[in-house]
Amino acid sequence: MLNNVSGLGKLVYFDYSALIVLSVILISTVMRKMTKGRLNTIFILIVVTAFASTLCDCLAVRHDNNLYSNTTVRMAEHMAYLFFHVLTTPLFCLYVTELTDTRHLVRRRRLLVYLLAVPFFAATSAIFLTPVNHKMFYFDSSLQYVRGEWFWLLYFSAVFYVAYLIFFLVRFRHNVTAGRWVSLVILLVCMLAAIVLQYFFPEFLVEMFATAVGLLFISVMVQRPEEIIDVESGAKSRAAFAEDMHRSFGNKKVFDIIILKVSNLQSFREFLSYDESTGLLKETRERADRLRQQLGIFAEVYYLRNGVYALTVDGGGDSSQTLAKALYEESGKPIRISNMNINLITYCCIIRCPEDISDARALSEFINKAIPNEEGVTFAADVLKSGRYDMIIDMDSIISRALSEERLEVYYQPIYSISDKKFHSAEALIRLKDEKYGFVPPDLFIPEAERNGAIHKIGRFVFESVCRFLASEEFKKLGIDYIEINLSVVECMRETLADEIIDLLHKYGIAHGMINLEITETFAAHTQSVMIENIRKLTEAGIAFSLDDFGTGYSNMQSIALLPLAITKLDKTFASLEDNDKMTLVVEHSIDLIKALQMKIVVEGVETKEMLERFSRLGCEYIQGYYFSKPLPRDEFVKFIMSYKEKQGQ
Ligand code: C2E
Ligand code: MG
Ligand code: MG
Repeated sequence: MLNNVSGLGKLVYFDYSALIVLSVILISTVMRKMTKGRLNTIFILIVVTAFASTLCDCLAVRHDNNLYSNTTVRMAEHMAYLFFHVLTTPLFCLYVTELTDTRHLVRRRRLLVYLLAVPFFAATSAIFLTPVNHKMFYFDSSLQYVRGEWFWLLYFSAVFYVAYLIFFLVRFRHNVTAGRWVSLVILLVCMLAAIVLQYFFPEFLVEMFATAVGLLFISVMVQRPEEIIDVESGAKSRAAFAEDMHRSFGNKKVFDIIILKVSNLQSFREFLSYDESTGLLKETRERADRLRQQLGIFAEVYYLRNGVYALTVDGGGDSSQTLAKALYEESGKPIRISNMNINLITYCCIIRCPEDISDARALSEFINKAIPNEEGVTFAADVLKSGRYDMIIDMDSIISRALSEERLEVYYQPIYSISDKKFHSAEALIRLKDEKYGFVPPDLFIPEAERNGAIHKIGRFVFESVCRFLASEEFKKLGIDYIEINLSVVECMRETLADEIIDLLHKYGIAHGMINLEITETFAAHTQSVMIENIRKLTEAGIAFSLDDFGTGYSNMQSIALLPLAITKLDKTFASLEDNDKMTLVVEHSIDLIKALQMKIVVEGVETKEMLERFSRLGCEYIQGYYFSKPLPRDEFVKFIMSYKEKQGQ
């Protein structure tokens, strides 16, 4: 390692090669823009320090070989070489601490930090005292470089930090990926081999060369932007987030995560070019970066795809709340992309770790399924307290329990015909009552059932139940013309769907006109041949279709016009729209359009007499809503209709 005798006869070619390798590492690091963040900064510092150390070594050896050189200059060169050399190992320790994300563990133990700094300060002080006491090294009477009695301090410092590094790499081996761990071990082995080699063959100055080769390994294996940077947004990637979270939870770190979810990103992607949408993603990331810099809060910014960003704030506390508020406010301002002002709809949620969530799997589930679609800044703690989250997480087992324990039931909500002044149809709505959670809303379990395929079984259950009801004697007394059944897109992708429905109607001896299938606007966007074939078969068999939730999706009027629809159901948001001039125009013209397409209208969500009167005035045929009745279990529904008929003398 450290020069132990005069420079005469030393081979500096290894040092020259080290200088070349270190320059290549430095240039490539800068060119790959690996300059931001703590880890990158420490890496660059190590490379620069190693470079400075090697350069001073080269100069010192050259001047040692020329005994007529100025001894003050020689002394300065040796001191500089030794100083930079001593500095490299603690910097390595810092690098590994950062890489294993254990800074918070070290920082918590103040005494340990001071103890860790002792060898470095002792060695450095000894180096700088050399001109006064000549104890680190000196030049003898023939001006040869000779080690002094304190020289062992340098060895001690090196061995101390290498031992610390070995301990760290063993103790926190699970905190880094196998590839990274191996490259760090290779670096250590290179350094140790060089120390031994140089000790026995002092004329070969291989140590800095070995360090440079080790650093090259790190640069190739660890400092890889393609692994940790998301190319579209420029933020840290989803893979980096997963790895960092796994480590942070493993290290019992206290931190907050701010989730920023852009809910309307997908709709922009449909009409923006690739460059424009990546511009949108980048601008959102840059805004987050700018804000955290302005507020002086250290946060890592990740892009987890599908419009979801995550910012991690070490230590948590008020700073994450301040940052989240600022982020939310800023996200309300339009982003200018190619002469367009784009307004993003964002939701912001703070997750305190490990208080709210303490493992990576639960975190990813929370982010995927439970970020509230609410304005302002929300807190994961509130979601967790509400019980809704447990339900969401448990949804798979809730659904399979419901299917195996027959915990499903079909409810019926009456639909009133204004012209006939009677309930002429009803909508079948599924209900799930779980033993643990009670009633689970369909809005929660239907999407999950669509994802896991359980919707097919649920759908069959609804059809069977409705058919049994339609075939029953009590139904015949009700005067109800047909029952509306909700059909999910996923069900319609089943090749056998049409045949199964027709077979079922045959089995129960039910006329095809007694059921009506509700499909949503999302159907219009899907032009799958299986689906089109199913709809064709069912329509040919005389089964009518209704368009559900009109006005909530991104309507594709052409596709809607092409679907064989008999009825359009205005979504409940229409019913509750403010009664102002513009909104009245929207409602009136929507109604005119539907009528022009020869469809009848059901208004959903009618809760008051005023709403009923308003939509009757506007010429809508049918009314559904709490004003008349909530969805009811079969028996209650029968009672409700019978008592209404009695009252009306029908
Ligand atoms: P949807 O088909 O639009 O059903 C209407 C929803 O509005 C029902 O919610 C109903 O309870 C509710 N509703 C009715 N009148 C009013 C009112 O006056 N005010 C308010 N605020 N709400 C009213 P529900 O039963 O929770 O169902 C939610 C959604 O779940 C349904 O929306 C439908 O998309 C889906 N769904 C329900 N049952 C089934 C099913 O058997 N199969 C499939 N595929 N989806 C279903
Ligand atoms: Mg419906
Ligand atoms: Mg609806």
